[in-house]
Amino acid sequence: MKSINRLSVRLFLSSLAVILIGFCVLVLAIQLSLPLTYGRHLGLMEQMMSGEAPMGMMGQGDGRLGSGRAVELYDGFRAGVNEALVYAVLISAAAAILLSLLIGSRLVAPIRAMTRASQRISDGHYAERVPVAGGDELALLARSFNRMAARLEQIEAMRRQLIGDVAHELRTPLTAIKGSMEGLEDGIIPAEPATFRQISQEAERLSRLVDDLQELSRVESGAYSLDRKPVRVVDLVGTAVSRIARQYEGKGVTLTADLPTELPAVMVDEDRIGQVLLNLLANALQHTPSGGQVVISACAGEKDVVVSVSDTGVGIAVEHLEHIFDRFYRVDKSRSRATGGGSGIGLTIARHLVEAHGGTITVASEGENRGSRFAVSLHRG
Ligand code: ADP
Repeated sequence: MKSINRLSVRLFLSSLAVILIGFCVLVLAIQLSLPLTYGRHLGLMEQMMSGEAPMGMMGQGDGRLGSGRAVELYDGFRAGVNEALVYAVLISAAAAILLSLLIGSRLVAPIRAMTRASQRISDGHYAERVPVAGGDELALLARSFNRMAARLEQIEAMRRQLIGDVAHELRTPLTAIKGSMEGLEDGIIPAEPATFRQISQEAERLSRLVDDLQELSRVESGAYSLDRKPVRVVDLVGTAVSRIARQYEGKGVTLTADLPTELPAVMVDEDRIGQVLLNLLANALQHTPSGGQVVISACAGEKDVVVSVSDTGVGIAVEHLEHIFDRFYRVDKSRSRATGGGSGIGLTIARHLVEAHGGTITVASEGENRGSRFAVSLHRG
């Protein structure tokens, strides 16, 4: 039963069936028409040869056979035709086998290759690809199969990278907490408020990281809804500035909002875009030494409004600019940690949120210690 289901066998059986049907039609047609046509032709020949010795009664000239030698002749002729038909059916069957083998190998080979490749991929070998030849439907299928395999490989690589990154990020605070606890237990580290504060800070970092990861997974999977409505840019900026103003004052960094009087509204989810602006302002504060300046400004384009956050801080070297929105990317990991910085997820989340609004977020910097400028472009409301 299984072998009947194989494509090459089916191909062979179908070509054989076509040949057999053709053959049956041929035999039927010959058997029905042969006596008549044979008799008629023999009659005609008799007329043409009239004057010569009669061949028994030969044909009747009207298509009917007479008797005697004519019937014998007819039987002999029929036996000859039948024999030729048997040869024909044998040769056709051989041709059917050859044809189905030929077509089968061309048709079945790529399908088998794809079956093998998909089994290897499901076993975890994501680099598996199938050869593509020609431009027929099978080649199209092979191409789209390879595209699918490449995408799966990419997703798998991202998954591995993510697990590796998360493990790495979790390990650092956990190791610090464990080390401090062991030191306390052994009496090497003194049980004083500074030690407990340090442990608590690491625990806090851990909890922030988990929150960030949760938020990242939410925005990456798109498991959130946007409540978009026209919002005044002045309100957006005003809310973000008022939420962080105290921290700016605390560090001695000047924060200025520089907005034109006439600004169109933008079509956004107020909370989400507010979160993005707050994140940019927090980053600017973190990377700007006291005495520095941060300016949040906006300007209207034809279809959008661009809100920018510029600082006079440490800036970003050109080689880091293109990675700044990547997951877990930090320009200076040790500096970021030492200054209580995040895990390099904030800008990734910001980019997802802005892009979910159909907008863009870009970064520019003249280089190290020459400040940075982040610009968010949003559709007008
Ligand atoms: P984090 O939570 O570590 O701040 P982000 O994704 O917000 O992560 O930022 C990624 C990295 O980009 C930061 O670690 C920092 O190195 C760099 N960065 C972000 N904003 C600024 C800025 N205004 N000036 C200089 N570097 C910045």
